[in-house]
This record gives sequence, C-alpha cells and structure tokens, in this order.
Amino acid sequence: MERRAQGSSSMDAGVPARRRREMAAATSGAGRCRLSKVGAGQRPPPARVRVAVRLRPFMDGAAGENDTPCVRGLDSCSLEIANWRNHQETLKYQFDAFYGERSSQQDIYAGSVQPILRHLLEGQNASVLAYGPTGAGKTHTMLGSPEQPGVIPRALMDLLQLTREEGAEGRPWALSVTMSYLEIYQEKVLDLLEPSSGDLVIREDCRGNILIPGLTQKPIASFADFERHFLPASRNRTVGATRLNQRSSRSHAVLLVKVDQRERLAPFRQREGKLYLIDLAGSEDNRRTGNKGLRLKESGAINTSLFVLGKVVDALNQGLPRVPYRDSKLTRLLQDSLGGSAHSILIANIAPERCFYLDTVSALNFAARSKEVINRPFTNESLQLHVLAPIKLSKKELLGPSEAKRARGPEEEETGSPEPPAAPSSASQKLSPLQKLNSMDPAMVERLLSLDRLLGSQGSQGTPLLSTPRRERMVLMKTVEAKDLEIERLKMKQKELEAKVLAQEAAHPKEKENCSPTMLRPLARRTVTVAKPLKKAVVMPLQLIQEQAAYPNAEIHILKKKGRKRKLESLDASEPEKGEDCWELQISPELLAHGRQKILDLLNEGSARDLRSLQRIGQKKAQLIVGWRELHGPFSQVEDLERVEGISGKQMESFLKANILGLAAGQHCGPS
Ligand code: ADP
Ligand code: MG
Repeated sequence: MERRAQGSSSMDAGVPARRRREMAAATSGAGRCRLSKVGAGQRPPPARVRVAVRLRPFMDGAAGENDTPCVRGLDSCSLEIANWRNHQETLKYQFDAFYGERSSQQDIYAGSVQPILRHLLEGQNASVLAYGPTGAGKTHTMLGSPEQPGVIPRALMDLLQLTREEGAEGRPWALSVTMSYLEIYQEKVLDLLEPSSGDLVIREDCRGNILIPGLTQKPIASFADFERHFLPASRNRTVGATRLNQRSSRSHAVLLVKVDQRERLAPFRQREGKLYLIDLAGSEDNRRTGNKGLRLKESGAINTSLFVLGKVVDALNQGLPRVPYRDSKLTRLLQDSLGGSAHSILIANIAPERCFYLDTVSALNFAARSKEVINRPFTNESLQLHVLAPIKLSKKELLGPSEAKRARGPEEEETGSPEPPAAPSSASQKLSPLQKLNSMDPAMVERLLSLDRLLGSQGSQGTPLLSTPRRERMVLMKTVEAKDLEIERLKMKQKELEAKVLAQEAAHPKEKENCSPTMLRPLARRTVTVAKPLKKAVVMPLQLIQEQAAYPNAEIHILKKKGRKRKLESLDASEPEKGEDCWELQISPELLAHGRQKILDLLNEGSARDLRSLQRIGQKKAQLIVGWRELHGPFSQVEDLERVEGISGKQMESFLKANILGLAAGQHCGPS
C-alpha cells in the first residue's frame, strides 16, 4: 500500500496558496532588490528552488549488523521510504530529480548544477546547498575526492572555462572571477582564506545584496589558482575536524565565487553574478545523537541555524510578512539565495541505512517544503561603478602621491582584495574621447564628479554623468559648456559696465564727487562738506509769477552773502548747527518799485478774494483792507497798510518781505 508523503501532496495546494507564495517571494529580498536593478519595470520570471535528492550507497561500516536499506528509488524524480508507523506502507516523495545509489558525481553535476551556471554570466546569482544528516554524503557530493571530484571542482572548472571563452579578446564583455571561502561555526563567520580575521559581520547593501565586509577575495584565472587557495583552506578545516571531533560536520562551509563582467564598449555596463556552493552542517537531531559538552554546544548552534533555515522556508511557503532571515548567520547569508534573487538548488543527501531513518524522513520533509519556495532571479547590472573606477584612478593621478593615498577609499585598504586590474584598464581604453580625463582640466573633472553626485542624490538611476552612453554624455557636456559661456558673457558685460562708469567719471569729475562721494573713498577717512538745505519753501504770489512771465527780461536779482559765515556742516562733526541762514537778497530798485506798485494796485483795486492771493493776507485781513478802502479811499503807498485797524507795523513789514522778497528768492535761489 502506498501513501503520498506530506511534501508531495503540498504541491497540489491550488491557486490561492501558489499566489500567496509568489507574494511572499515578492515581499522578501527579491522584491526589494528588484527596484534597484536593471529592468526594474519588469517583474522577473519566477524560479522555484529546485530540489534534488541523492541517496548514497549502502555502507556496511555505517550500518549495524542487522541493518537493512529502508529507502529506494522509483524513478528519476521519486523515491519511497518505509512508513515506521505502519510497516505495510511506504511514504512516497517526488522531487525535481532523484539520484540513486549508482549515480555518479557527473550525473549530479550535469543534471542539477551545470544548468544554472550560465545564469552567472547573465549577472544573476546562483546557489547550491547540500543538506542532510552527517554521514549522508554532503561533502562527498560537494567536494568529492581526487578520483571522484564533486560539484565544487567541476563547477569551478566549467565556470573558469566559460569565463575564459566569453571574456576573450574581441568579445563584448571582459570577465573576471574571484573566490572567497568561509565557515559558519557556532554562529561565527570565519574567513577560511584568512583564519586570523576572526568573526566577520554580514551586511546588506542598499540594493539588498548580502555582503561580508573584510572577507578575503582572491582573483582566480585558472583552476590551478583556485586549488592554490582552496586546498590549504580545506586542509585547515580537515585538521580542525580531526582535532575537534568532526568539526567539519558541525559547521557550514560556504564557497563564494563571484563573476564580474565589464562591457568593453558603450554603454559600459557592469554585471556581477554570485555563486554560493554550500556544504551545510549535519541536520541530525541532537537529542538522538547523545552529544554532550562541546559537541552538545556545537550541535545546539548548528541546530539553531538549521532550525531557522526551516522557519525561513516555512515563512516563504506560507506567505508570512516577516521572513526570519536575521535570526541566524546562515539564513542571513542565504537571504538572497532562498526566496531571494538566486537560482537555487538544494541537494538533500540521504543514507539508506535504517539507523538514519528518522533523520532521513526529516531531511526529506525539509526538502519537500523547500521546493515550494519561489525565487525571482534578476540581472544584477549597473552602469555606475564601471566607468567611475577609471575616473577615480585618473583623479588620483591628478593629485600628488600623498593626496592620492589619502583619497584612497577605506574599502581598498581594508579588504586586501583588489579588483582584477585587467577589466578596468581595458574598459578605460575604450572610453570615448570625452572620457580622457588625464588631459581634462581638474576643475572640470571636479565639476563632473559633483554633477554626478548631484544626479545621484536626486535619485537619478542608471544615468550618472560619467557612465552614461556617449550621446547622453555629450548632451551633458554641452550643458556644462553653455553654462560656462553664460558665465563668460556675464563677466564681459560687467567689465563693459565698469568701463562705462569710469569713462563717465573721467568726463565729469565734479559730478562724480557730488553724486557719489562716499562710493569712491572710505567714509571714515574723508570729511565731506554738505551745504545745509534751505529750511523755508518760498511760495510766490500768483500775480508776481504772472508778472515775471510777462517780463522775461526783468532785472537780475542778486543773492549776496553778507555778514558772518555760514557754519559748514561736517559729516565727522557731531556738534549741532549753530549758525543761521545769512543769505540776503539784493534786488534791483526797478523790480522792487515795480513790485510795490503792483501790490499797491492790488490793494486799491482788488477784491477781498484777490487780496487773499497775497502772502500773509487771510480772509479777515482782506476784509479789513477792503473796509478801510471804502472808508478812507485808495492807499497812496503800500506802507499805508499800517493804518488799517488790526494790521501792525511789524505785520506790514512782514507782508512786504513775503511778497516782494519772495519773488526774488523764487526766481534765483529755489530750494536746494
Ligand atoms: P557528510 O558530509 O554528509 O557528513 P560524507 O560526504 O563525509 O558525509 O560521507 C560519508 C562517507 O560516505 C564518506 O566516506 C564518503 O566517501 C561516503 N560517501 C558518501 N556518499 C557517497 C557516494 N555517493 N558514493 C560513495 N561513497 C559515498
Ligand atoms: Mg561533511
């Protein structure tokens, strides 16, 4: 009798569950990253985590005396395992691939790993995880032996070959490969290429990429390069395993291979693909192994990581809003490999012996849950860094050696893992003439860089000034040139205006002094004399104005200074003014006589209204004058006004002054 196992039946969960899972994938790391990547407008096609199961051969040494196999393969995708609750039944599981006892290392590699490698050259991430209980064949699958090399050497061999071909001269992209090798042991991230580094931190950049600052990256151009770095690190780990009683089974070994691509021609794109090859720690249940002391502590830490891995898978499957990636180092590192941006393959290694039964069922159930996780791989492509790199170099070249050292970024010094030199230099050689920064004005370089930063701060994506396609760069350069011309034009205009002012000053030097004395010399060093303005406004009688108009050639009035000097006012002086105005009119006798006569005529013939047009004659005085005239007849002289009742001699004098002197003052002095 057959029974479908839990993992298998969840495949037919129906549309709503599938949609939930897709939403979960979208709200996880993949969703966040996508916005900052090339093709942000398009939703990447889903890529379900692929799950393969590998059953190792029955091993007499691993089994007890009466042990028998409890697992068997059915076809290339499915297997069955005895149901311990009911010995008459078996549990059936179906996966993307099943590899039986007789399958070779090449079968596993070619069937499940090789197909995803091409995505690295598209700038996408990929990961291969070996899962299963200790002794089930994880290390054999991933590393293998010299006679039977596993996934890691095969993948490296192929990848290096692929990058050599794709990055050959004449091909559009220059490719370079680097490797890092780390171990997560008791929740510590240890650099196996630089064991003295200590525990390293795992970070996430603004694009959602997971990275480990300070992790050694070794450039590898050939398989020999890879072996040179990898084998000593692996041996160290093996030595550790012997000393610490199977430490290698208690830690997660992570080999990270990065493929960098730089486009040789415009638009000089850059791509980065990451490949994680992970040999996970044993998934056996610590309670059953009877571990004690350090082994118990180690197992506890391992089980925490693997337990969180299970929770992450469950959260992704159920579409939970929070995926607990951060709850362990392992899941944090795998954030962009599970439910994230990677093409992922999980190889669940199982052993056929009955003594492994419960761990095998547990591993199969985890594998069945994992295959429901949907990733959304995308191309990790940018335009920015590629072209800025040679510019940074050029900037350093423009600086002196000490400044150049100071200008070096902390990253370059910190990691000791420089970028492969071939790609940037070859790229810079292909830059357009506009990019020849060595021959460019340093100020211009600075301006371009600040414009670039400005564009970046305004959220401009993918079109930074120094890495845009040639046509766009030319437009931007033209804008800069236009601004320069505008500045030059304004400078010329300013110079012209200054020259004009100077010319005017030369033509009218006095005007200059009068107009703007304080603009030419400092105020404190100069004593400026300013004539005190007249305090009295002079209003001429209407008749006199008319008279004046009628006699344009009237006698000249002379204003003469007499008596004591006027007090000259100094800007420095704080004393109040002491002197009085001492200007006096000297009027020609004829004009004076003429004025007197006119006033006399007005006094004798004018109505009260006419009289009011004279200075100092109001309504009341005008009526008194008219009344006196009716009683006593016409005035014989102007001084007769004194005889009018209500007009004193003093008032009469004031009247004459205001009306006759006012005429002279109004014509020749005027308010200044
Ligand atoms: P794990 O890493 O999961 O603890 P190992 O890879 O160390 O397990 O395997 C345990 C033992 O089984 C090793 O001696 C290994 O050579 C052997 N073995 C594992 N898988 C196979 C296989 N497919 N064919 C032959 N031997 C295998
Ligand atoms: Mg192992």
